[in-house]
Amino acid sequence: MSIVSNSLKRIKPSPTMAVTSKAREMRAAGKDVIGLGAGEPDFDTPNNIKHAAIKAIKKGDTKYTAVDGTPALKKAVQKKFKRENNLNYDLSEISVGTGGKQVLYNAFMATINRGDEVIIPAPYWVSYPDIILLAGGKPKIVKCDERDHFKLTPGKLKKAISKKTKWIILNSPSNPTGTAYTKAEIVALAKILSKHKKIYILSDDIYEHITYDNFKFFTIAQIKNLKDRTLTMNGVSKSYSMTGWRIGYAAGPKEIIKAMAKIQSQSTSNPTSISQAAAVEALNGTQKFIKPRANSFKKRRDFVVDSLNDINGISCLRPEGAFYVFPNCKKLLGNKTKIKTDKDFVEKLLEKSQVAVVQGSAFGLNGYFRISYATSIENLKKAMSRIKKFCENLN
Ligand code: PLP
Repeated sequence: MSIVSNSLKRIKPSPTMAVTSKAREMRAAGKDVIGLGAGEPDFDTPNNIKHAAIKAIKKGDTKYTAVDGTPALKKAVQKKFKRENNLNYDLSEISVGTGGKQVLYNAFMATINRGDEVIIPAPYWVSYPDIILLAGGKPKIVKCDERDHFKLTPGKLKKAISKKTKWIILNSPSNPTGTAYTKAEIVALAKILSKHKKIYILSDDIYEHITYDNFKFFTIAQIKNLKDRTLTMNGVSKSYSMTGWRIGYAAGPKEIIKAMAKIQSQSTSNPTSISQAAAVEALNGTQKFIKPRANSFKKRRDFVVDSLNDINGISCLRPEGAFYVFPNCKKLLGNKTKIKTDKDFVEKLLEKSQVAVVQGSAFGLNGYFRISYATSIENLKKAMSRIKKFCENLN
């Protein structure tokens, strides 16, 4: 009998990590691998934020803090929601954790009973289904179509709701597709959710600040009659290039926030005191680098989308945000190319052309692959020319 618990057997290791570790192995063996798998900005953390952390160390802010966030950070989060989303929260409606991932984990662990269903539109961020499974819930995967820009439609939402639905997860802009919901699209989904008063909504807004072409970000808690059953998750990882600092937060119903703190108190306790001080500066300090960084991502997005659409057999939408694209490679799969699945496609691409991307099936939708363009334009140029050559040799 295995020592490993039954609940752990329900989940699988992160498929994005698998590609990254294969690419690392190849690099160690001297191969010139271009990694387009990473889910983090390539920019450094801004200096004002680093200085705030150094100041915190020197001041002796190096001890335990309140379990789910210092009052200073909760106040900064409260101000952020007011300033950027016109949402008012009491401090007791705010929770801070070790990254958005822990916040999500706490929320689902704290609320899911065995058999509860969670609607997850696919393609989805890889961790959602596994966190739900670990919590004893049932992911209800709803496949979204490319012609709907991979977004959940009201019709599909209606069909997916059952008596057992406890939560629905919305992620905009999305990992892995980069597409984002407009206000009108969110209002249309909200109309249906308004009628189902027992369903809670998890809005994952972690890519809020990475949008292009004057896209107007809108989050579902801004719809008045849904705010009291929406938990809005966000964090400093992507907006402020702080993935390693591990600070995420959420705002929502007091009862959930309190239950989340209880879980955190028996697992990690508070997020790192120094990272919390840095996050206060991220949220309260200058926001002036956000726009130029988004502009730089936009240039890369345009380059990558144009290059991909220039390849025979590949087509790619131009998404509104995040730093991912999700090209369609279905025309290159089949007997002619001897590549059957998107997983085979990305494995061959890595082996033959040394470009690391992640197969769409890892995100719940076959026939696609995800490219993260959070790397230099030089790297992207090299990668795009390798992908083109690889695909031409298949045709
Ligand atoms: N949500 C989405 C959609 C993500 O892509 C990520 C990170 O990749 C997270 C949440 C969690 O980010 P973190 O734990 O770094 O705050």
